[in-house]
Amino acid sequence: MRAGEETLARLKRGLESARPGCLAIIGLPFDENSSFMRGPANAPPLIRENLFSESTHLWTENGLNLGAEGVLCDLGDLDLSDKGQAFELIEAAIVMILEARLKPVCLGGDHSVSLPILKAFRGFYPRLNLVHFDAHPDLYHDFLGNPHSHASPFARIMEQRLADRLVQVGLRATNDHQRQQALRFGVESFEMANWPEKPDWRFEGPVYLSFDLDALDPAFAPGVSHHEPGGLSTRQAISLIQGLKGQIVGADIVELNPNRDPIGITAMAAAKIFKEIAGQILA
Ligand code: MN
Ligand code: MN
Repeated sequence: MRAGEETLARLKRGLESARPGCLAIIGLPFDENSSFMRGPANAPPLIRENLFSESTHLWTENGLNLGAEGVLCDLGDLDLSDKGQAFELIEAAIVMILEARLKPVCLGGDHSVSLPILKAFRGFYPRLNLVHFDAHPDLYHDFLGNPHSHASPFARIMEQRLADRLVQVGLRATNDHQRQQALRFGVESFEMANWPEKPDWRFEGPVYLSFDLDALDPAFAPGVSHHEPGGLSTRQAISLIQGLKGQIVGADIVELNPNRDPIGITAMAAAKIFKEIAGQILA
């Protein structure tokens, strides 16, 4: 309880000096719901380090300078060491960020963090679209008995009606159970088998974007727990983000596993995806 109170108090202090409307970076170092390998809990500082690396700059491809005064604010990482309280803390933190009228972009963590994030968003957005980049649909009713597995967040999100529309792109590791779940929830699934076909990419009302880095082909982004060949190139993913017709109001970038990212290329891909999502949020 103490760690939780302290981390929210620290966040509150950070929010006091943040400019309303700015894009808020918040790290969620949590991988308790990973099914195969651990590692994503260590990702947030590495994505941040690459984002601010002197090897590049903070301009987006659509001509915005994220390094200009008051555009970005870094709220640091939440302390999620109390595992049993992590989801509650994430939800409370995102509520605080949205109340301060900032636009959160969350750095995961494994994909289970999207559920508490979406719970918070739903309170602010009576109409909400969800765009999900992933090799996997993450629609398992439960995985190995864990209903909060990183393989299940979108089943919970749709059951709890936290989004009105869910569009998934990059899929190439689905199965009968998850196809049934997709039908049950009315998910618009875009499988790589049908590339370059994509679903209707126009959205009425706000869009939340959840980006699992394993949507990218492991040739471009090996630093993920589940290597699934046949994915999007980094360029294709960026072009999809840039071509999206709708107002993005928040995002997460999840599943970077630094243990499998020896030269840091996946962390840099995450930073690049961050910048291009930010460019769309602020456009
Ligand atoms: Mn995922
Ligand atoms: Mn995945």
